[in-house]
Amino acid sequence: MKVITSVKDMQAEIIQQKILGKSIGFVPTMGFLHEGHLTLIKNARKENDLVVLSIFVNPLQFGPKEDFSTYPRDFERDRALAESEQVDYLFYPAVDEMYPNVPSIKVTVQERTDVLCGKSRPGHFDGVATVVTKLFNIVMPTRAYFGKKDAQQVAVIEGLVSDLNFPIQLVAVDIVREKDGLAKSSRNVNLSSEDRKQAPVLYKSLCAAKKAIENGERDSVKLTSLIQEMIIAQTSGEIDYVEIFSYPQLQPIEKIEGRFIIALAVKFKNVRLIDNLIMDI
Ligand code: AMP
Repeated sequence: MKVITSVKDMQAEIIQQKILGKSIGFVPTMGFLHEGHLTLIKNARKENDLVVLSIFVNPLQFGPKEDFSTYPRDFERDRALAESEQVDYLFYPAVDEMYPNVPSIKVTVQERTDVLCGKSRPGHFDGVATVVTKLFNIVMPTRAYFGKKDAQQVAVIEGLVSDLNFPIQLVAVDIVREKDGLAKSSRNVNLSSEDRKQAPVLYKSLCAAKKAIENGERDSVKLTSLIQEMIIAQTSGEIDYVEIFSYPQLQPIEKIEGRFIIALAVKFKNVRLIDNLIMDI
């Protein structure tokens, strides 16, 4: 595995590999790798000649009061994990390498950002779309792998790829969970032990809603109330949102039908957790 920190070196390597006709699978991450990331890498490994993993905690997608400085980082551990998953290139640029000067251009996301995380994290998806555009131009992947844990991000990146004509195939990978159901996240290590015990209630509440749907419930308000009540009763977390939208359009729906997402975000002291369930009925 080659560790590359320079944009120019990464592009030079990729151009060489493309001349040789190699397909490139790309997994963009912010590091502190867990089983969720490793599942993305495993999928990329199966479906491509070469795998590029990027680790970059992107300041542009964090708000001023968010956890950019406390976001967990451990490069040596990540490097060993990447190596054991047979990653070919680990792209690990510094902030100055990605943003050497004040940017004269940034990508602005026009749709699907006034709801869910876009609503409570203004500018977040512009930051994501800007860094993903740069990474796509640096890595020039054949396929790019994203997790459904960040379902709104998947929807936004689908729009980016289609509207800006990137010749890239997106692959959305299912959520990987802890044994108790908590969605794996790099941020989970920052939960206090009490909050960690309560956090699985998020997934349990989604499963309760799923069960209600299977028993015939179709009313979005009743379903979101059921989830909210469970979270309020069983955790000390502060609900940011519990919402149901059509997916991937992210339009509000009163009665659920077709493909939809039930998504939630809950803040536990310094850690904000998200989770979701995408269903088709
Ligand atoms: P992050 O490092 O949090 O930016 O995540 C990098 C990629 O891994 C994103 O596409 C995430 O959606 C994906 N990811 C993170 N957690 C999980 C998970 N528990 N299951 C599946 N994919 C995940």
